[in-house]
Amino acid sequence: MTKDKLTLYLAAPRGFCAGVDRAIKIVEMALEKWGAPVYVRHEIVHNKYVVDGLREKGAVFVEELDECPTDRPVIFSAHGVPKAVPAEAARREMVYVDATCPLVSKVHIEAERHHANGLQMVMIGHAGHPETLGTMGQLPEGEVLLVETEADVAGLEPRDPEKLAFITQTTLSVDDTAGIVAALKARFPAIVGPHKEDICYATTNRQESVKAIAPKVDAILVIGAPNSSNSKRLVEVGAYAGCSYSQLVQRATDIDWRALDGIRSVGITAGASAPEVLVNEVIDAFRDRYDVTVEPVETAVERVEFKVPRVLREPA
Ligand code: SF4
Repeated sequence: MTKDKLTLYLAAPRGFCAGVDRAIKIVEMALEKWGAPVYVRHEIVHNKYVVDGLREKGAVFVEELDECPTDRPVIFSAHGVPKAVPAEAARREMVYVDATCPLVSKVHIEAERHHANGLQMVMIGHAGHPETLGTMGQLPEGEVLLVETEADVAGLEPRDPEKLAFITQTTLSVDDTAGIVAALKARFPAIVGPHKEDICYATTNRQESVKAIAPKVDAILVIGAPNSSNSKRLVEVGAYAGCSYSQLVQRATDIDWRALDGIRSVGITAGASAPEVLVNEVIDAFRDRYDVTVEPVETAVERVEFKVPRVLREPA
């Protein structure tokens, strides 16, 4: 039986960013250095495939520090942790390695600098996301006010409207965040902040490539986890940029083939925590059903790399 022709537009950059790559390496190197088990507080990155793979190698994933024994190393996830967490690990005399992405740590430092200058912070982010909890937890309670939407800006009640600064989660929608920043500046003209926002290079680049693909395709599939903020934003960006079917899939088995009936072109990308093996799995699933032509769409080239912490580069 002849297969229907289908073009797959493959976004580049896609998938792992430098922060995720580093965090996974940290767990692998910790297992090599100290042997299993190594404890990891929270999913090291938001991807089940990655977490399951590390679990098989001897990583134990927990939500809170008090679930870890004091005589085994513990790693903090790429999303960052409130200050109280490493402080508690130090108090319990535990060996710990912080896998917080350096671009998240940069936001933590910004927050501390503004706080030291007497400014109250407004954080643009998603309530309950580990990165938001970690960043807000760099400062004492009440020093960081959270806004999720432009509408939230109207309800802010800062201590002094003249003494405010803003920071953002690194994995937000670039366009939505621009609207929230504009609302903050309109209501609090004295507010200080980064030049644009703190959204990282990887989030920005992945959103740009989806915008380039969306007008060309009948459907967009974003490979990523339902709790991955940057992956969910890619789905939204695909829809805003004009693709009426923009969906998140964790892997090939999640594809709703009936919904794709009659399509001739699909855009494929992957969130910053989704490994390339899952992209290849999805492409292969299309090849099983269609006569596929793959067209890469490259909108940026990434050369960012982050070193792992010194403790893992030193011999045991
Ligand atoms: S998405 Fe950005 S901030 Fe998050 S780990 Fe990757 S590079 Fe770091």
